[in-house]
Amino acid sequence: MSESADTDLIAAVRSFVEKEVKPVANELEHRNEYPQALVEQMKALGLFGATIPEAFGGLGLSVTTYARIVEELCRGWMTLSGILNTHLMVAYVIRVFGNDEQRQRFLPAMARGEKRAAFGLTEPHAGSDAQAIRTLARRSGDAYVINGTKMWSTNARTGTMFGLVVKTNPEAEPRHTGISYLIAEKGGPGCTISRDLPKLGYKGVESAEVCFEDFQIPAANLIGREGEGFKYIMTGLEVGRVNIAARAVGVAQAAFEDALRYAQERETFGKPSCEHQAIQLKLADMATKIEAARLLTYRAAAMKDSGERSDIEAGMAKLFASETCQEVALEAMRIHGGYGYSQEFNVERYYRDAPLMIIGEGTNEIQRLVIARGLLRRAGYVRPPHVRDD
Ligand SMILES: Cc1cc2nc3c(=O)[nH]c(=O)nc-3n(C[C@H](O)[C@H](O)[C@H](O)COP(=O)(O)OP(=O)(O)OC[C@H]3O[C@@H](n4cnc5c(N)ncnc54)[C@H](O)[C@@H]3O)c2cc1C
Repeated sequence: MSESADTDLIAAVRSFVEKEVKPVANELEHRNEYPQALVEQMKALGLFGATIPEAFGGLGLSVTTYARIVEELCRGWMTLSGILNTHLMVAYVIRVFGNDEQRQRFLPAMARGEKRAAFGLTEPHAGSDAQAIRTLARRSGDAYVINGTKMWSTNARTGTMFGLVVKTNPEAEPRHTGISYLIAEKGGPGCTISRDLPKLGYKGVESAEVCFEDFQIPAANLIGREGEGFKYIMTGLEVGRVNIAARAVGVAQAAFEDALRYAQERETFGKPSCEHQAIQLKLADMATKIEAARLLTYRAAAMKDSGERSDIEAGMAKLFASETCQEVALEAMRIHGGYGYSQEFNVERYYRDAPLMIIGEGTNEIQRLVIARGLLRRAGYVRPPHVRDD
């Protein structure tokens, strides 16, 4: 898409958020209701194909424009970007590492939102230590037979397919060389969505436990090569981390805007509370940090767009933006006083949504490790062979 078409799309998303999302977000969130009507409108806007190339029926947006769209959606309701995130991460991996037949088979239907993807990496005993996954894919003729359990898989119930991370060789050393990436389409016996996990926030979209018992996936659904899946996940996660950073900027911006408005309306000690310097200092710090988070996010997105390795920058953006979002949400709540704790105001929702960005797509502790290891790599440091990841 051209630059002006991108600008028009961002404006259209902003208008969708103002007119359609903001009026209903709180109610849907408190009812924990899947926003089917909003999803249909997101389909009509083409958002399920946001970063899928135009040749496959998508909008072919840059990661930078996608980040700006995520930010706009999250000014209204963070859950909407969660519905897109795993879907577009999986589409990205198919596009970059899949073959032509797989691209033709999946991407056009994904761009239309007819096929909708969840991502299955985390397991009950393995999150940060992703290489410790146990879900096993055993080759049998023209199929892989899957056994194992995935945890926290967002969109697992409402989606139609999974980007599934499996062990094809559980004995392999180093462990990542036994990991492969398969596309699992629902249907057929052996795939059960066993439960939706109850959550603090991020409501309206399900994050589920999924059990695979002798579930068959055609061998033609193997992405790339056996044993290379870990590399594909890590590349896909760079896009996912930009999404999380942009989400955090959007939620923080919404919290700031609500606080700025409330501080002008609320009177304490005979004047609007925005006249108190203590409140002004908060507003200044909030706005400054949000702007810094936004710039880090756009920089990471621009690097990804230029094809440069962006693990350090995506990690920095995700780390800084998510910590900023958490701080800003709390400050916005303080500025609202008691009303900030009320479900009648949006601030308590931002405050419950914010911590997910600290945990999702690799916790911030793990981001710091990614950043530090990347910095050492760029400095030319070579790891002694006896040192292993903890
Ligand atoms: C709402 C929600 C939605 C999610 N959606 C998905 C999804 O769609 N697909 C999916 O696959 N996963 C999903 N996840 C899982 C998420 O990615 C993991 O929760 C996350 O990676 C952390 O893993 P864990 O929960 O197992 O924590 P653990 O790995 O058990 O970590 C616990 C704590 O220990 C710290 N820690 C662990 N190892 C180290 C270390 N080496 N050094 C320092 N500190 C360390 C962590 O930072 C954390 O603070 C989702 C999670 C949530 C909460």
